[in-house]
Amino acid sequence: MNDGLNDGLNDGLNDGMNDGMNDGMNDGMNDGMNDEMNDGLKYDLTVIGGGPSGMAAAIQAHRLGVSVVLIEPDELGGQLRSANLVENYPGFPGGIPGRELADLMARQVHGLGVDVESLTVSSVQPEKEGFELVCHDGDGTVALTSRSVIVTTGAAPCRWDVDIPDDVRDLVHVDAWDPEMFRDRDVVVIGGGEAALDRALYLNRHGARVRVISRSRVRAMKLLKDRVRECYIPMETGCLVEDVSRTDGRLQIRTADGRRFEADHVMVCIGKEPRVTILPADVRDDLLSTSPDDGFMVGTLFTRTRYPGLLLAGDLVSGDFRHVGCAVGGGLAASLVAVGHINNGSEKK
Ligand SMILES: Cc1cc2nc3c(=O)[nH]c(=O)nc-3n(C[C@H](O)[C@H](O)[C@H](O)COP(=O)(O)OP(=O)(O)OC[C@H]3O[C@@H](n4cnc5c(N)ncnc54)[C@H](O)[C@@H]3O)c2cc1C
Repeated sequence: MNDGLNDGLNDGLNDGMNDGMNDGMNDGMNDGMNDEMNDGLKYDLTVIGGGPSGMAAAIQAHRLGVSVVLIEPDELGGQLRSANLVENYPGFPGGIPGRELADLMARQVHGLGVDVESLTVSSVQPEKEGFELVCHDGDGTVALTSRSVIVTTGAAPCRWDVDIPDDVRDLVHVDAWDPEMFRDRDVVVIGGGEAALDRALYLNRHGARVRVISRSRVRAMKLLKDRVRECYIPMETGCLVEDVSRTDGRLQIRTADGRRFEADHVMVCIGKEPRVTILPADVRDDLLSTSPDDGFMVGTLFTRTRYPGLLLAGDLVSGDFRHVGCAVGGGLAASLVAVGHINNGSEKK
């Protein structure tokens, strides 16, 4: 695994997250609140991650009358914000762009008056009365205690095992935070799964000239493949990328079998891995020991942990069930269990 590459990809991801964090800095988050949090702000329930799963969990808990805070450093919506067209979430005949669905969910969260804090959680630790969370924002570290915690930190792009030189990094992306920057540009999308094809269609819709190259066969569902073909987006298989360089401002992508592609940007969509780093080490070990391979993927909509009151939901634990409906269902179910724990001191089975 190459550090340079990983730094590059992670930089891209973090840039997006940080931009969003600054843009979306919660209006209600002020100095007074920071002081209060430093003194140990207490909630019944803390939901970490403002994707579909976290929003569903927070909405449900709020309705059930417990004090709940939803922590998200970026705009609410998570990965859903970058989905081209969501057609498998009931209630939207004809489908709905991911961004619009995310905005509707966010409007519901804010409309209900759920507390949303623009923070990044760095760790969750069990303590006597519940859990202690260490969080940070642009101004420093803040602590928060909570009787129950639902972690819905979702999934992050897998690392790409290709060396990326420094002068190329800013042109290699893992997400299309601002699709307009790709307009009238040549973009090579790397990957053959559904996210790759969805991303290709999304960029195509925003005026980019897109080509998909995949290491092996294109695994995405037929419906997406047909749409990509209908948009005349070339798809090439057997393209194991060996290196990416920059000549006269253009990217040169070279594959193991000697093929070369030129582009202004590269979009890497080679899969996701669950974001587990903030979990207590023993909970991470438990996940690892129950996962089929080495991917921490347990393949469930939500799960309890060895610590009563600490629950995990959504893409973080959903294995191959990475869909909005699954994330929402998992968040909602985890919320019911968490509220049971808060009210009765025990988790309903
Ligand atoms: C391109 C693309 C297209 C897709 N298309 C579809 C589709 O058509 N239909 C469908 O059903 N699904 C689709 N999906 C999948 C769907 O978006 C996900 O299943 C869903 O968003 C998962 O929700 P989640 O809340 O579990 O996680 P996420 O959406 O990943 O949200 C996790 C949130 O946690 C936050 N977070 C992470 N770490 C921390 C931390 N330390 N502290 C605080 N917050 C943190 C992140 O910022 C993020 O907002 C698509 C996904 C992608 C990428």
